[in-house]
Amino acid sequence: MTGYKRVLLKLSGEVFGGGKVGVDPDVVQTVAREIAAVARAGVQIAVVTGGGNFFRGAELQQRGMDRVRADYMGMLGIVMNCLALQDFLEKMGVETRVQTAITMGQVAEPYIPRRAIRHMEKGRVVIFGAGMGMPFFSTDTVAVQRALESKCDVVLVAKSGVDGVYTADPHLDPTATKFDELTYAEAMNRGLRIMDQTAFALCGENKLPMVVFGMEPEGNILRVVQGEKIGTLVSA
Ligand code: UDP
Repeated sequence: MTGYKRVLLKLSGEVFGGGKVGVDPDVVQTVAREIAAVARAGVQIAVVTGGGNFFRGAELQQRGMDRVRADYMGMLGIVMNCLALQDFLEKMGVETRVQTAITMGQVAEPYIPRRAIRHMEKGRVVIFGAGMGMPFFSTDTVAVQRALESKCDVVLVAKSGVDGVYTADPHLDPTATKFDELTYAEAMNRGLRIMDQTAFALCGENKLPMVVFGMEPEGNILRVVQGEKIGTLVSA
């Protein structure tokens, strides 16, 4: 075991959609099973979900929408992913709380950091939704901010279709090679795009480690939590 006591898992929207628009319940069930295994192993876990399977503000802007309104649509999309994940976790007998950065009392708790910590201490999985509640941010940055504020030991970035940080996008450049380890300074200097630069900078400044790894094969989330060296470790 690595000694991680509390982890923040970032799941991009692509994971929820299984590559399509909307939520693929089969995929969400698989992800929920993995998160349940982490919680049952006694490790506190919070999750930040992306929303790219519904809307990305920047993409809608390119197609003529106002950026701010489009970003709010993006944040609402994120909440649907949170609810889907909550549903499967609760069906598996895992207690969860969704906290959203945009208040929507009928659907979720508001974002209250100290309460989120308390939930985790009680063994509940906390799912942070609606991003930062502010346009012009990405959920990568939110994942780091929530990890810092809720005092997580590490940010775990689970990706679909790629198993770590590469020198270039391995789907576009067959000569790309994978890093086992990397510093934030290197990641930023090389302009690596696996996470956004703000997220790298915030992690680096606060010396919070990050592990970027692939969702496949099933069980990888628990493997990383238990200290197996898969994916890429990014540190200060
Ligand atoms: N978003 C935002 N503020 C935030 C987080 C997200 O405006 O704090 C919007 C933004 O439009 C973004 C969309 O929500 O494109 C979905 O989030 P993101 O692109 O980070 O999801 P992912 O790429 O992880 O699926």
